[in-house]
Formats: sequence, structure tokens, C-alpha cells
Amino acid sequence: MTEIQEKITSLRQQLPDHVRLVCVSKFHSEETILEAYEAGERDFGESRAQELVRKAAALPKDIRWHFIGSLQTNKVKMVVPTAYLIHSVDSVRLLEAINNYATKNNLNSRVLLEIHIAEETTKQGFKPDEVLEIFTSGVWKNYPNVQICGLMGMATFSADTVKIQREFKTLHSLFLQIKSIFLNENFSELSMGMTNDFHLAIEEGSTCVRIGSLIFGERC
Ligand SMILES: *Cc1c(COP(=O)(O)O)cnc(C)c1O
Repeated sequence: MTEIQEKITSLRQQLPDHVRLVCVSKFHSEETILEAYEAGERDFGESRAQELVRKAAALPKDIRWHFIGSLQTNKVKMVVPTAYLIHSVDSVRLLEAINNYATKNNLNSRVLLEIHIAEETTKQGFKPDEVLEIFTSGVWKNYPNVQICGLMGMATFSADTVKIQREFKTLHSLFLQIKSIFLNENFSELSMGMTNDFHLAIEEGSTCVRIGSLIFGERC
């Protein structure tokens, strides 16, 4: 077993069966991704459109690619045909651009809405009341070629576990609130938890953790 494969084995033992693992492979080589692939992993996360497209073309076709980075509308055409799930839809404008592209190309795009829960203003996302509005007002109906599958969020980068827990709790309760309004069985994913906080995220109801450095080491 390689070092990466050992890391995956030990990580897998810490994850409950209902939690999906997305191996965040951004900035790591195709050879490195193949090591994880050979250990059985099929979900990989990328944060840049060009890198996603290049890796998807070169690597096995049964990989499910998760787009987790900030997405500009002019890159939608690269990401929509390639991504299994886009985690980082952070504006109605982007939702509209994805729907337009998907409609023209007869595609259905699966997305998560990214919510701003952290204290850092550098992090992206909808405010909780903005995202609620999409469902209470029925605005989501304007995007028939987009399937809204859940929510994503990133906690503050901090050693303060109480703060992180509070942020994840906020996201989880928003998820439940939307679920009770939206009544769509595909609305089922709560993507939260990274290398430093995935245990807390799972305790607070995560269905999908996005883990990079714990598996692949620090990014170059
Ligand atoms: C890079 C990244 C991750 C992985 O972070 P690690 O701390 O390396 O596990 C997860 N989610 C998003 C959105 C990222 O950009």
C-alpha cells in the first residue's frame, strides 16, 4: 500500500457509511489521483475549471467529479458537462447561467447552494435569508434544468470548536428548513467538513465531507 492508500484506509474507518467522501485533488497530479482511485475512491473534488476538464479527459470515466471552487459564469460551459455535482453555486446569477447552458445543451445540472456561514468575509455564499427566499418565493422553478440537491458550507478556519459547531448547526437547521418547504427527494446532500473539522461536521449532520490535505498532503 502507498502512503496515500494508507491514509484513505484510516480515514474510511472514521467515516460512517452514510457519509460520502469527496477526495479533494486540486493541485495534485493525475498519478496521485490514480493511487486513490486504485484504493477504490471514485469521488474527486476540483476547484478550477481548466484543471477539472484536463483531469477528467485523462482519467477513468467512472470518476464522479465534484466542482468545489468559485465558478465564474464564463467557465460554466467547461464545468457543467463534466461535473457530477457542483457544490459552489453562490448566486442566483450563477444559477441562471448554469440553467441557460444546460437548457441549450439538453443537460441537467446537479448543484448545491453554497451558504456563507463563516465569519471570514473572504468566503463565498448566499446569506441564509437569501437562500430561503429562493424556495419560499418559488424562484427555483425558473431553473428547470438545474437540480438543487442540497447545501454546502465552510466553517471559519479556527481552533474554536464551539464556533465551528455553531456554524455547522446553523447550516444543518437551514437545510432542514428548506427541506420542509422544497419537498423534493433529490434535496438530500449537506456538504460540510474538511480535513480540520470533518468530525464536527459529521456530528452536526453532514452527508458529504470534502477532504484534501489529510489524504494527499499539503497543497504545493
Ligand atoms: C480545498 C478545499 C477543501 C479541502 O480542504 P482540506 O483542508 O485540504 O481538506 C474542501 N472544500 C473546499 C471548498 C476547498 O476549496
